[in-house]
Amino acid sequence: MQRLDLSLGSRDCSKCSVHKPYSEFVTVRARGRVQPSAKCLACFRVDNRAYYHANPDKEKQRRIVKYAKSTDTRQEWRKKNVSRLRALGALRKRRVRHATPPWANIPAIYAFMRACPVGYHIDHIIPIKGQNVSGLHVLENLQYLPASANISKKNKVIDEVLTMYPTCLIRN
Ligand SMILES: [Zn+2]
Repeated sequence: MQRLDLSLGSRDCSKCSVHKPYSEFVTVRARGRVQPSAKCLACFRVDNRAYYHANPDKEKQRRIVKYAKSTDTRQEWRKKNVSRLRALGALRKRRVRHATPPWANIPAIYAFMRACPVGYHIDHIIPIKGQNVSGLHVLENLQYLPASANISKKNKVIDEVLTMYPTCLIRN
């Protein structure tokens, strides 16, 4: 593929008419060549936002279709990787078992899990597989988190949390 060094050159934006370096444009393919777009990146953003506000239903529909497509891909991947998923599930179980101390109140943990509100996940405040420290699988280390927040949190730990819950962790 022909590459274009966007650090070189500049042009006028077709919309705002401001003369800007190529680095402030997006690359497009036209007539077999890769070149900077006519509109600058800032103008693209303004236009995209305006389009979204003018066509909210169309955009919503587009997102639904996009999500459905990604769901299909995910399900196909799952079908092809059954053994891998099983191994991951087993690993997760082993980690939980390993992080459960003898004094953990198991019935209380199950009760907490059963009471989880719809749309929320059970989260280990200090992750049981943290980067520098690992939390315990005990009631004091569990919380409800909106599903989306849990996915973005992954295994990150915030320092303040560590000082708040000193009894819930093993240092790696
Ligand atoms: Zn512009």
